[in-house]
Amino acid sequence: MTNEQEDTSRGSGLTPGNEKPSAPTLLDYKEVVGPAIIEELTILASHVGNQSIKMVNSTAVGGGVAEMLHRVVPLLNELGIQVEWEVIQGDEEFFEITKTFHNALQGEERHFEEDVFRTYLARNEDNNSKMSFDQDLIVIHDPQPAALISWHQNRRNRWVWRCHIDLSHPNRQIWEFLRPYIEKYDSAIFSSALFSPKLDIPQYRFYPAIDPLDNKNKELDSSYIVNVLAKYGVPRDKPIITQISRYDPWKDPVGVVQAFKMARKYVDCRLLMVGDKAEDDPEAERILERVIREAGNDPDIHIIFLTRSIPTEINAFQRASDIIVQKSLREGFALTVSEALWKKRPVIGSAVGGIPAQIIDGYTGLLVHSVEGASLGIRSLLTQPDFANKLGKNGRERVKEEFLITKNLKRYLLLLLALDRPNKKTIFLN
Ligand code: UDP
Repeated sequence: MTNEQEDTSRGSGLTPGNEKPSAPTLLDYKEVVGPAIIEELTILASHVGNQSIKMVNSTAVGGGVAEMLHRVVPLLNELGIQVEWEVIQGDEEFFEITKTFHNALQGEERHFEEDVFRTYLARNEDNNSKMSFDQDLIVIHDPQPAALISWHQNRRNRWVWRCHIDLSHPNRQIWEFLRPYIEKYDSAIFSSALFSPKLDIPQYRFYPAIDPLDNKNKELDSSYIVNVLAKYGVPRDKPIITQISRYDPWKDPVGVVQAFKMARKYVDCRLLMVGDKAEDDPEAERILERVIREAGNDPDIHIIFLTRSIPTEINAFQRASDIIVQKSLREGFALTVSEALWKKRPVIGSAVGGIPAQIIDGYTGLLVHSVEGASLGIRSLLTQPDFANKLGKNGRERVKEEFLITKNLKRYLLLLLALDRPNKKTIFLN
């Protein structure tokens, strides 16, 4: 196991989003998506006019939300929208509580005592007293800061709750607690129509997106890839199957090890498990221990735990892989799937959350429903390389159409426009 401390590419601090001067500008995306898309963004931005947005979430580093905000914020600023990003503060107790909320919202059975709700609200109130919300649009990401709305009943601006998690089977107690707060918002955004709950406010569907020019996704020299694999002691003598995900029960890393072990009885390959830890996640070490136990002393299983990921290294792991697996049990969206498809990797993903939006089974990847299914997928892709290549190629096209950051910028601009015309209950912002 490797523990990597250094981080050279991600931001940190209370108000992230101020990228280094070398960060790509909108013009740099012309090469990737074509001039028409950039022109469309500029026209939409001119219709939006002089508006401001505040993004609020609970971590500056780790996980898909922080990942996206680091790029979306500066690019929206470039389009003339004044965007500020602020991260709420919390102690260990608060983040333990919000992690249990997160798990319960994704379906974990558990009972909450009243004092847990009191602590959650008190921390939201503390944060509220230190923050200002003067922008035209306030976007609150996920449940951790969701109750901030309570202190803004008589607001003049719009507040939107952006939910990145899978709400298809929420624990009833936690949803009954949270729902009244969500319904105080002007609208809510979900990553898939599959799990948008019944709410008395308008809802939008908003796919997340990846940044093709980010260190995570840009082209790499093959020598760099070789060096990264060597640095972590992963030989390239046989096909590599990889899952890159936080060590979180919903990512089912134990199931990935089981699927690999089943498949390896028939096809020779290695498993690479790479995972880091979000700042607001107290659970990772516990899950990691379970994965290590499941792997036993198998020399073909490489378990890498990163305190913080280096994006170019994640990129290298993805590019070095013959198959990428994302065997989640619940999933908000799974940026990792789009990242892998963009690199033309064949992906085996569970049919949960936003994964089926990215993987059209048999065309842009394989959708599976079980450990056995994932194991069969590994066997089938390793024994049919032409089919695997075709999935990867089609996958890249799908990502180019739907899941690149330019599409996300468009959705935010359309959201600003749509909020002035609130006449529909559910709106797809495409
Ligand atoms: N990621 C990373 N290092 C890791 C695990 C994940 O950099 O060890 C990145 C991954 O490449 C992706 C994001 O973190 O960009 C995870 O987003 P996703 O939507 O897949 O899952 P989340 O963690 O938000 O549930």
